Amino acid sequence: MSRTTDRLFGASSPLLIDGRLVPGDHRFGTIDPATEEVLGEAADATPADLDHAVAAARRAFDSSPWATDLALRVRCLRQLNEALTRHADELRELTIAEAGAPRFLTYGAQLDTPVADLRWFADLAERYDWERDLGRAAPMGLTSDRRVVREPVGVVGAITPWNFPHQINLAKLGPALAAGNTIVLKAAPDTPWCAAALGVLVQEETDIPPGVVNVITGADHALGARLCADARVDLLSFTGSTGTGRAVMRAAADGLKRVFLELGGKSAFLVLADADLRAACSYAAFAALTHAGQGCALTTRLLVPRERYDEAVRLTAATMGKLGTGDPGDERTVCGPVISARQRDRIEGYLKLAVEEGGEFATGGGRPGGRERGFWIEPTLITGLTNETRTAREEIFGPVLVILPHDGDDDAIRLANDSPYGLSGAVHGGDPERARAVARRLRTGTVSVNGGVWYAADVPFGGYKQSGIGREMGVAGFEEYLETKSIAEGVS
Ligand code: NAD
Repeated sequence: MSRTTDRLFGASSPLLIDGRLVPGDHRFGTIDPATEEVLGEAADATPADLDHAVAAARRAFDSSPWATDLALRVRCLRQLNEALTRHADELRELTIAEAGAPRFLTYGAQLDTPVADLRWFADLAERYDWERDLGRAAPMGLTSDRRVVREPVGVVGAITPWNFPHQINLAKLGPALAAGNTIVLKAAPDTPWCAAALGVLVQEETDIPPGVVNVITGADHALGARLCADARVDLLSFTGSTGTGRAVMRAAADGLKRVFLELGGKSAFLVLADADLRAACSYAAFAALTHAGQGCALTTRLLVPRERYDEAVRLTAATMGKLGTGDPGDERTVCGPVISARQRDRIEGYLKLAVEEGGEFATGGGRPGGRERGFWIEPTLITGLTNETRTAREEIFGPVLVILPHDGDDDAIRLANDSPYGLSGAVHGGDPERARAVARRLRTGTVSVNGGVWYAADVPFGGYKQSGIGREMGVAGFEEYLETKSIAEGVS
């Protein structure tokens, strides 16, 4: 692996603080979840490193031209897109090795798509209506010319998880920078190299001024908590679990910081009675297994017509069994390893719970045979549960699908919405109008109808209920990083 990162940072990745790549005083290992091989080391930031990064971001926001020079920002974002594109081959191998991401996904959401999306944010910043003239009026008899100006919020503290490292890091960096903010990116401990590579390219292949982008890697989650508590940070942009999201929001409350939260999910896949059951079940199996189920918006509850439950179980289990697990470097693999021993143990805890709650495995239920090394869970389909069980309600974040019966469209909608989460969903039905009507009644931030893909730079993504606050991507996502200032000028 060190060969693929040689051009970036060799076998030991640095921090990016105030326009300098620094090795840090401490390091920690990053490993390949498919093999448990130690890939190399990453800088293990100290609280002092984080402190310097926040100070640099504050300085760059308050006293560099970044916040006001739109042309500079657009140029730099395009440079970053070009730099990442130039290094796509190394980044692809790095993402497969460090995140265990299946190769096919790196041509989409795991790498190429979020890199390309940077251009969309640069274009948006160029055409965006930064000022709106509200015209002359005389409120309370005083004639005034009024305008509304959009401005960057300030210093963004961005905290990200490991499952789609480039997508999530860039979905924060792109709009935050396009809007004129400076940023301290605190990456997940399991994927420090993906973030560090971004820092190296920012520094070495773009004109982004010192302090505008700072990248912090570290083994200790406490770095994230420290960033949340820092009074110099204006906005916290967090993606991760709902539990950590609560902690971020609590910390933000003390300083009344703006928060933007992308959290967990337990999304439903609704198969209506008039759907092509075979096609829908294949689709549902594929969706649940993608990247070993480690995607917040993946559909992990499959709702099928009660009268066809057994047939749906057979069809879904057959596809899941056929897909199996595979080496993430193989183009054909859909379900690779899970990220860590900790995550594997957590998933196994849920498999045990499923049995205690009366569930049975139609396929899977443990570790796949023949894999001595790495962190693996078999594609698993659980039958016989109700929507009230913890297994059906809680986010497992593994290749585990719960299949539940429904008694018609109203019941399917009720079950889908009976969840603490509201991130995403999917509806499959023969009559498009009927499927569309069902989709509109789901309380979720995104919905796919008959295989439609909502993931794109211009489509806002986010959750209802405990799946988050705010939207990422799209104009709505860009505007999360803006303040609104209204100016009224007296006319004599
Ligand atoms: P996590 O919540 O454990 O960690 C996420 C990040 O928060 C990491 O960088 C971690 O170091 C940091 N962190 C931990 N404790 C913190 C604290 N007290 N204060 C501040 N930061 C802290 O999540 P994870 O296990 O890395 O990722 C999986 C979770 O992320 C799943 O729940 C998944 O649904 C969610 N996720 C959500 C989305 C979305 O867009 N909604 C996308 C991807 C992942």
